[in-house]
Amino acid sequence: MYNLPGFEPRLVDKAYLENLGVTVEPSEETLKALESGSDVFRRRYAEGLLIPRQRYGLAELDPAAVTPEIHNYTGRCPALTWEINPVRGCTVGCQYCLVSDGVHEQELLAYENYHLYVRRLLDEQNGPGSPNERHYYYFSPKTEAFQEATLYTGIAHRILREFIDHFRRCPESRARLFIASKAGARHLECKDGGESILDLFARMKDRMQFNTSVSIMPDAFRDILEPYAAPLDERLAAVKLCREAGIPANSALVQPIITPWLTPEHTGSFFDALHGAGIINYKPEFLTACVENLAMLGQYLGWFDKDLERKLYDDYLMPSNEAHRKQRGRIAPDKEKSRGYLKSMMEYTGKLGMSVSICYWVRKQLGISEDIIPLINSNGFQCLGYQSKLFADV
Ligand code: SF4
Repeated sequence: MYNLPGFEPRLVDKAYLENLGVTVEPSEETLKALESGSDVFRRRYAEGLLIPRQRYGLAELDPAAVTPEIHNYTGRCPALTWEINPVRGCTVGCQYCLVSDGVHEQELLAYENYHLYVRRLLDEQNGPGSPNERHYYYFSPKTEAFQEATLYTGIAHRILREFIDHFRRCPESRARLFIASKAGARHLECKDGGESILDLFARMKDRMQFNTSVSIMPDAFRDILEPYAAPLDERLAAVKLCREAGIPANSALVQPIITPWLTPEHTGSFFDALHGAGIINYKPEFLTACVENLAMLGQYLGWFDKDLERKLYDDYLMPSNEAHRKQRGRIAPDKEKSRGYLKSMMEYTGKLGMSVSICYWVRKQLGISEDIIPLINSNGFQCLGYQSKLFADV
């Protein structure tokens, strides 16, 4: 984003929106947020702080002192899922980051002994003498599971070995590993102690799933939005590697969906590629972002096509949509438009025989009935794309 010919961050204010031909009239509060977001964007652009420094510190944590986190942003999640987050921050640098609202100024810290906390959590929840309820363990909602900081240090490998050892010690365990990742094939082939991530997956393939996380946009835009993430074709190559090894990897998190890119061409080629890689289910999620972050994301879109930027603001900034917010005030696109976009997406993917699972918050906000998207769909997926059949034997 620093070398886009002719690109210079601008002040997104009332005059800017009018010049762009935006038809909605944002409230004063929203305009203020756009202006302060523009100022922050310009400062970070000038100071080179838009993407994370590709370095990280190493630390040790006290496994007994960690407070386990349940993955439940909306208070409505149907599955009790424990979070696994071995790095504070993330080297991937997504400009819309769902965790940091696109902020990547903090120093990254990787916890070398994080696996000891995972061991404690597994023992407490699903070990001998524990309640042993059905639990997903989500690796990783707050950072990328397979990034330099977790791969080159062996942190990711040690975490996976903890699960393998747990399942060996506790064959009756009702723990299941849910991985959502932007990793490519080369990340899964990264070795530690002679074992690759894929090798470790294969040793617990009936108790885990690998869900690629990717969205509908041109590669050039993805390179700006997710600067250090694997390209689409590499992520799908990772899916194929898993499937060839018999590891469940046939559901994708399709997020964040940037509504102006939802043209028939982009939607069609994207889902054809997923379908071609063996993906049979997807969890669609529209971009949610604080208004400050929208002032930056919109301008990136505008570099490609000013009309796309106008469309983005027209989908988000109307006063009637101001209360349509997920965690931390992240605004979602207009509900009526969202229903329309989802309907046309499902019409296309329905022809490919793909099923859809949806976040419970989105379901409630958009009033999507279980007739349209069942809580657990025909392929056994629910919510984020949790595969309920992973518990078939317990
Ligand atoms: S991979 Fe996830 S945690 Fe990392 S920057 Fe992107 S959205 Fe944030």
